[in-house]
Amino acid sequence: MKRAFNFNAGPTALPEDVLKKAEKEWLNYNGTGMNVMEMSHRSKPYEEINNQAQALLRKLLNISNDYEILFLQGGASLQFAMVPMNLLEEGKKGYYALTGSWSEKALKEAKKIGDAESVVSGKDNNYTTIPDIKDLSSLENGSYLHITSNNTIYGTQWHETPKNLSIPLVADMSSDILCRPIDVNSYGLIYAGAQKNLGPSGVTVVIIKKDLLERSKDSLPSILDYRTHASNQSLYNTPPTLAVYLLKLVLEWADSLGGAEALEKINQQKAELLYHEIDGSNGFYNGHANKNSRSLMNVTFTLNSKELTDAFLAEAKELGFIGLNGHRSVGGCRASIYNAIPLEHVEKLAQFMKEFRTR
Ligand code: PLP
Repeated sequence: MKRAFNFNAGPTALPEDVLKKAEKEWLNYNGTGMNVMEMSHRSKPYEEINNQAQALLRKLLNISNDYEILFLQGGASLQFAMVPMNLLEEGKKGYYALTGSWSEKALKEAKKIGDAESVVSGKDNNYTTIPDIKDLSSLENGSYLHITSNNTIYGTQWHETPKNLSIPLVADMSSDILCRPIDVNSYGLIYAGAQKNLGPSGVTVVIIKKDLLERSKDSLPSILDYRTHASNQSLYNTPPTLAVYLLKLVLEWADSLGGAEALEKINQQKAELLYHEIDGSNGFYNGHANKNSRSLMNVTFTLNSKELTDAFLAEAKELGFIGLNGHRSVGGCRASIYNAIPLEHVEKLAQFMKEFRTR
């Protein structure tokens, strides 16, 4: 059976080994005679899946015991609201670095909940560059600084996080978590919808520093209070059991490859193939992101006319490449090359780009 060359922005491909393992266990998970979907979330086998997924993520991202790991629902979009609901303090502001549409949305939600403002924005240059936050001291009285570590739509990524920050750093890592090693200790909270690098949609990972849990107020609805999920091992209400199980399989796969360091090397190799073709094309392909802000995960580029773009996308589709249309706000093309996208598929795309250009 032929697998698609899947360059979707998310949900996207899962590692083939993960799908095969799930298939093998589909009717009879670990001798239970049940699919994971059919089990009680209070059962021992499910509790083990939940614990193993947490332990694997802790190992892969080197997360210390100062942090809780939560598996929630509602996507990253619910975190746009839960972050300010739980972390905004009386008389203080939530600060946002605007680097694309997702950070704009995060700020918009925060403003509905309390006092929030942007401290820096890349909007004027159409989000081609990750802007510098020049005056960190001006943030001293904030409750937190929110960044979007990878901008899925524009194809930009933070390569260095703000240093010497006196307030907690909050990051939406939906489209680049586990694409490289990170120092979790420099963050107060990290969140990520799973459907790009971690598994299927339906589960959202939140990594939160334990001392920040003290900020949540009793007036919050229980389900929106991080403390509820932390004190119930993410089993307060019925979790997305199948999604957590697949997340566990993806983490096992990532571990078997050598973890975040190994994944970063492969990701650099994949991204380099496409950026090399763009840079060597003499302006036939134009990268959207400035070089120092380029994403390892989403490679965005345009061609010089609508006719050429349409021809490129039509031919690509014919050859089995899926999901190469750019987001409507940027146009052109986007190749999303998350962890699970095989190197050979990216090589095939780079080869096609070269052939198309040469012709
Ligand atoms: N943040 C980023 C960086 C994203 O790429 C996305 C979705 O593509 C979201 C947030 C929204 O995620 P969800 O659909 O899980 O709410």
